Amino acid sequence: MSSRNLTFSVGGVHMDEHKTLTEHIPIEKMPAPDVVYIPMSQHIGAPCNPTVAVGDTVKVGQIVGNSEAYISAAVHSSVSGSVKAIEKMYTADGRYCDCVVIENDKKDDAVEANALLNYKDVSMDEIIAFVKEKGIVGMGGAGFPLHAKLKGDDPVLDQCIINGAECEPFLTCDHRIMLEKTEEILEGLEIFAEFYNKEVSYMAIEENKPDAISKMEDVISENPKWSNLKVVGCQTKYPQGDSKRLAEAVLGRIVPQNGVTNDVGVFLTNVGTTLAFYEAIIEGRPSYERVITVSGSGISEPKNILVKIGTSVGDILDFCGGVKEEFVEIVCGGPMTGKSVFELTSPITKTTSGLLVFTKEEVNPGKESPCIRCSKCVDNCPANINPTDINAAILKDNVEICDELHADQCMECGICTFVCPAKRNLTASVKLAKREIRSRVKK
Ligand code: SF4
Ligand code: SF4
Repeated sequence: MSSRNLTFSVGGVHMDEHKTLTEHIPIEKMPAPDVVYIPMSQHIGAPCNPTVAVGDTVKVGQIVGNSEAYISAAVHSSVSGSVKAIEKMYTADGRYCDCVVIENDKKDDAVEANALLNYKDVSMDEIIAFVKEKGIVGMGGAGFPLHAKLKGDDPVLDQCIINGAECEPFLTCDHRIMLEKTEEILEGLEIFAEFYNKEVSYMAIEENKPDAISKMEDVISENPKWSNLKVVGCQTKYPQGDSKRLAEAVLGRIVPQNGVTNDVGVFLTNVGTTLAFYEAIIEGRPSYERVITVSGSGISEPKNILVKIGTSVGDILDFCGGVKEEFVEIVCGGPMTGKSVFELTSPITKTTSGLLVFTKEEVNPGKESPCIRCSKCVDNCPANINPTDINAAILKDNVEICDELHADQCMECGICTFVCPAKRNLTASVKLAKREIRSRVKK
């Protein structure tokens, strides 16, 4: 099997990457803010319930929210201090949920670290409980709790891929951690390899990050214990980092409709999640901070920063020199799948990969005009559906036709809107169609 220029077969698009603003900027640690707002919903699945009350004193790494539900993960305080309030707020990515508001006492008192260094000697059920308690969720954007992916016997998981594609324009946080935390990530991959495939497990990186590919390959070649790990280069093509596209690109395994990579025997997780997993298992640290990219032509000092979960968007932008006068929009996440931020007090979560501040240089919505039947949206759709026909159907409120056109298979990648010369709001309308189909199924 070739280990370069790997890609998926249907749709996708080559676009300007806009990564030069931050790709060479080392990660800087942002000082902890005076107040953090810890959201109880930071993942796919059941939100947590607060486990602390107003007036309680908390430590760094202490659980402040938890849930009995299997598809959920604990949340922890990212500072030490006292609980001032528990109130409903919007997170940076637009979830409306309870947040535990903690005033930082700046003492940095932390709970005692408990690692799982003997992970080879314990059962998978014990590892799953440990990972759930450490609050590790997919940090590439989706936020699927990691422990729910780990079970490897039904179906049997026999392949393992770490996703270092980072295909969204502007974002460079995964790129930087691959350069600056190479050994830790490979150690994390080695633990996964121990579970799923001891012969060969993969580190997949888009080829627009040649320094990360070289660094990973160099470190592997210097460490015989990692001879089972293989770096593969993927074509720079959006959405290469989508888990289903990556499983196809690297292994040729096609995930069925409504399926996940586990269904085809592939354990696949993001590179930031792998780092968080390593920090939990080897260092005993829960998931309470992460690296994000702050970029765009509207921010004064673009950076990659290590930031406490629960820090407000406003505090982060201030740390990056503030926004420029001509900014028009702040986006949480990448420009293709991110959400507009509408409150500067909104906190970041475990799934926040970046904050992008755009001026008119990047935001040019144009005016919607009639479809010219160019078929670009159809040709480039990685889900192999017909966005323009779905758009026409949902505008007539014809959900049955949307269902027949498989609108529910949309992965919300944003390509159809991006390529449409008529500036039609295709992604938003397909998302609406998908929601309508699902809500009618529930009734
Ligand atoms: S947003 Fe949905 S419909 Fe549009 S290109 Fe992506 S997968 Fe296809
Ligand atoms: S890309 Fe736009 S103009 Fe072209 S077929 Fe699709 S909706 Fe019509």
